[in-house]
Amino acid sequence: MNNKVLIIADLVIAGPANQVTVGGAVLIESGLIAAVGAAAELDSSIDATVPRLRCPGATVLPGMIDCHVHLSFDASLDPIAAVVQADPDKLSAAMAGRAERMLATGVTTVRDLGDRDALTVALRTSISSGTRVGPRILAATAPLTSRGGHCAFLGGEVTTDDDIRTQIARNAAAGADLIKVMASGGALTPGGPRMWEAQFTPDQLRLIVAEAGRHGLAVAAHAHGSDTIAHCVAAGVRTIEHCSWRTAAGIVHDPAVIRRMVEDDVAVCRCVSGDWQLFLDQMGPERAKAMAEVILEMREAGVRFIAGTDAGVPGARFDDYVGMLEFFVSLGFTHAEVLDMATVDAAHALGLSDTGTLAPGMRADLIVVSGNPLAELGSLRKVRHIFTAGRQVS
Ligand SMILES: [Zn+2]
Repeated sequence: MNNKVLIIADLVIAGPANQVTVGGAVLIESGLIAAVGAAAELDSSIDATVPRLRCPGATVLPGMIDCHVHLSFDASLDPIAAVVQADPDKLSAAMAGRAERMLATGVTTVRDLGDRDALTVALRTSISSGTRVGPRILAATAPLTSRGGHCAFLGGEVTTDDDIRTQIARNAAAGADLIKVMASGGALTPGGPRMWEAQFTPDQLRLIVAEAGRHGLAVAAHAHGSDTIAHCVAAGVRTIEHCSWRTAAGIVHDPAVIRRMVEDDVAVCRCVSGDWQLFLDQMGPERAKAMAEVILEMREAGVRFIAGTDAGVPGARFDDYVGMLEFFVSLGFTHAEVLDMATVDAAHALGLSDTGTLAPGMRADLIVVSGNPLAELGSLRKVRHIFTAGRQVS
């Protein structure tokens, strides 16, 4: 694949979002970015036979990254039934459709944090080989959970240290890109532990991180409970999912743990779906305010936030990534900050050094949107063109 194209637009956000070229251009060659610079310069210096994609009134930016999805869930009120009862072929086809829908919104990379039978790995292969169109996928396969614990129906139940070793080895053999652990309870599983209750001891969490590391894999930890968050950070996980600081007595955060997150570069994926307004209404004004304050305190302390929708769980659609970003803007995050959460910071936290910014040698994962997302975030909903690894899909 040696197809070249020169994209010319009013604005190029190379990333981080404060690196902007007014009147910019990006040259794609053989699936990679070959050059980024001023349009006038590149347009005149690059051979006239190279096709030009002229995009007046538009911005070029890195493809967006959703750090927390479940392609095997259907976003209905009962996603468990849809996963457990589905025939594998039908489920695979549905997952491929959801992945394609995500790509159409400008999301060029997704990290799937829990599926069944490693079906996401098969989808990853069919997308990377070009058989199917979709975002690049990082797959966690079956999340480790306690017996009867959060998302036990996905097949990753463990009790003993040996179980932990065996399940991690099984996931690695199935092609997992990382290990996911359900460190605390969650909202989805009937009869499982409460959201603030730990599912693993600190020793077990350390074993999980060490064992994953032996297979060359990082760990993403689902953690709502304040104690569990502290234990996960101490154990050395790479990302904390949800990070809602719950206790039996309400939201209680620990500034010392937050400082350690910053020091150890543990990123927080504070999953929010596009219908967050409904979620806030259900929480009530007091709890919503407490939740917002903790997020802002983590931001102030310098915690690296990364963008994730939890797409697939009830109410979390696969086509409303921008709605999630708008939640953070509603809290006072700048547009540049949320763009970084969606691109450069997400790539860093996921250990991807070849996407999330536009620079020579990077994968050509990029989107062209109408308008300027730094001025109006809604312009991210006006996707004109999408490239994934240099392949133009729209
Ligand atoms: Zn999740």
